[in-house]
Amino acid sequence: MAGTTSPVVDIHTHVYPPSYIELLKSRTSIPYIRSFPPSESLRLVILPAEDTESTSRGRPVGAEYYDINKKIEFMDKHDITISVISLANPWLDWVPAEEAVKAAESINNEVNEVCGKFPGRLFAFGTLPLSGGKEVIVKEIARLKDLKYMRGIILGTTGLGKGLDDPELLPIFQALQDAKLPIFLHPHYGLPGSVWGERANDYGHVLPLALGFPLETTIAVTRMILSGVFEKVPELQMILAHSGGTLPFLAGRIESCIEHDAYLKAEGKLGKGRKTVWEILKKNIYLDAVVYSEVGLKAAIQASGEDRVMFGTDHPFFPPLDEEGGKWASVETNYAAIKGALGSGTSAPIQNISDELHQFDGLKAASPSGGALVEFFMLYYNVENKHVEIS
Ligand code: URA
Ligand code: ZN
Repeated sequence: MAGTTSPVVDIHTHVYPPSYIELLKSRTSIPYIRSFPPSESLRLVILPAEDTESTSRGRPVGAEYYDINKKIEFMDKHDITISVISLANPWLDWVPAEEAVKAAESINNEVNEVCGKFPGRLFAFGTLPLSGGKEVIVKEIARLKDLKYMRGIILGTTGLGKGLDDPELLPIFQALQDAKLPIFLHPHYGLPGSVWGERANDYGHVLPLALGFPLETTIAVTRMILSGVFEKVPELQMILAHSGGTLPFLAGRIESCIEHDAYLKAEGKLGKGRKTVWEILKKNIYLDAVVYSEVGLKAAIQASGEDRVMFGTDHPFFPPLDEEGGKWASVETNYAAIKGALGSGTSAPIQNISDELHQFDGLKAASPSGGALVEFFMLYYNVENKHVEIS
């Protein structure tokens, strides 16, 4: 990648702004930050499954979680031109209803402002005040649309508490469609602990993170498909974390089960106007490339098209193992997968993705190959007539 003039956009990269960190420090139940004596170092505990001895309770919380300079350092280290930063899980899902609006406004303003400190390098996905109810959510969407650096919203899988197939969410999806703000769908809750069996505590984070996260995303989006969200809000755009969980791999099976379902048929849900899973994957869904393998990435590219798969890192999660200031193995694995999946035959990882992008040039053009990185910005940026501050 070194030497390329084309941008690499990291679409999946998180922050916990300093005010959010302070909030977590004030709490005693998940999500929270505290030390566990005799150690004095602070640990971040966000997942129910990591609040156990077997995971040493969460993870160390270093400056990379809240100091934006660390993000820029990381970007420079990995030749990432632009990051679209998002609040990390569990967002504001847990905030009491009466505090939701204020919390969302304050976090969104803070994230927007931090982007302004590095013009052209940082954009953001906003966070919705989910616990505040429909009206305030729609209002915040309207506000986000006018915040200079906001390019979408990050969303977990619970919605208003009943999942993303809840008909009550339709006005919110409609508002997002109208504002041309895509949803970055991200897991947090995993699956019920009982599915991991009696010895789950012997396996650290692995089962909930490696399987629970992607299955949660898969289930959430499949429920949206089954409930007809993409027919009712036809231009809604979603970016699915971790290459859609297992959606690309299971799309054929899901589609076959839909077609063969006598109940859906009797209910008249299989008729004309139904979008197939494959159509939705190609029209309404973008996938990130955070899948750590060529096999998974090839499935993502085949399912949605290479112009709808976007580079991501999941920074600051999965930090370097050797702690020696080296490159992040998690990121390098994703770069290698992209190179392998696109089958360039060149020796410069990801270089040909960048080179195939036409000159950035005010985001005028995007090629099909890896183009979603830029094309995504075109769709949701130029239509709003905003100016890209790339020098
Ligand atoms: N990646 C995330 O985004 N969140 C987690 O909790 C773990 C990995
Ligand atoms: Zn993530």
